[in-house]
Amino acid sequence: MSLSDTEVEVAGHKIGGGRFTLIAGPCTVESREQVLESAELVRAGGAAMFRAGAYKPRTSPHAFRGLGPAGLRLLAEVKRHTALPIVTELLDVRDLDLVLEVADVVQIGARNMQNYTLLTEVGRAGRPVLLKRGLGATVDELVSAAEYVLAEGNRNVVLCERGIRTFETGHRRATLDLMAVPILKSLTPLPVIVDPSHAAGRRELVLPLSLAAAAIGADGLLVEVHPRPEEAICDGPQSLAGADFAAYASQVYAAAELAGKTVHEPVAVR
Ligand code: PEP
Ligand code: MN
Repeated sequence: MSLSDTEVEVAGHKIGGGRFTLIAGPCTVESREQVLESAELVRAGGAAMFRAGAYKPRTSPHAFRGLGPAGLRLLAEVKRHTALPIVTELLDVRDLDLVLEVADVVQIGARNMQNYTLLTEVGRAGRPVLLKRGLGATVDELVSAAEYVLAEGNRNVVLCERGIRTFETGHRRATLDLMAVPILKSLTPLPVIVDPSHAAGRRELVLPLSLAAAAIGADGLLVEVHPRPEEAICDGPQSLAGADFAAYASQVYAAAELAGKTVHEPVAVR
């Protein structure tokens, strides 16, 4: 197996091994209606997996921090309705068992990239892990963080470049380090995906960054979509509008095919 050929099995789907995986959903689970509507629109638009947070890491403790267990129950309902695999964030090791009841992929967010006890526990749990690069972490530090999961015998790790902090703060939220994609692929056999939404902070930048990520060889994208971004509790300005998602997906899939990737067949309705 050559480097970058690792396949991460997720509920009958695979990430890596030449496939391009589009993971989409709103930043956070807000309500039953919002999350079911979001999931249906990303499924219909051709996403392979649904991502939404029930536990949100927020810069201010006064911001909405997620619905917690009630949010996880809504994600279980999404899974029953759409058959989409669920990606959701684990913030605290105390919530591990509850998150494992619904998560097909456990997201470890940028702020927890170096939370080594959390990485060890998700390593032991064996469930696929989506590990996001820390805001101030080097590529080598991301690889070392992944090794904490691998060291527990869990090979199912997907790396995610989501933008880093640089001197440039104007007109964007972070700086998307696209060079990290081929560099990570040269350093590890793990799939590497890109989150253009948190790097951009503005929806106008999400499509061009996504096309560039596909062109540079990313194994997929994690993108924020909301049925009505102006009503989103969290990350509305960077969320694609639901009505635009299908057109977005077909453009990124075309770019991924040009880059030699196999793209996802839409998931059938149950
Ligand atoms: C998110 O994925 O919604 C999120 C909070 O991302 P990050 O951990 O990359 O900031
Ligand atoms: Mn978000």
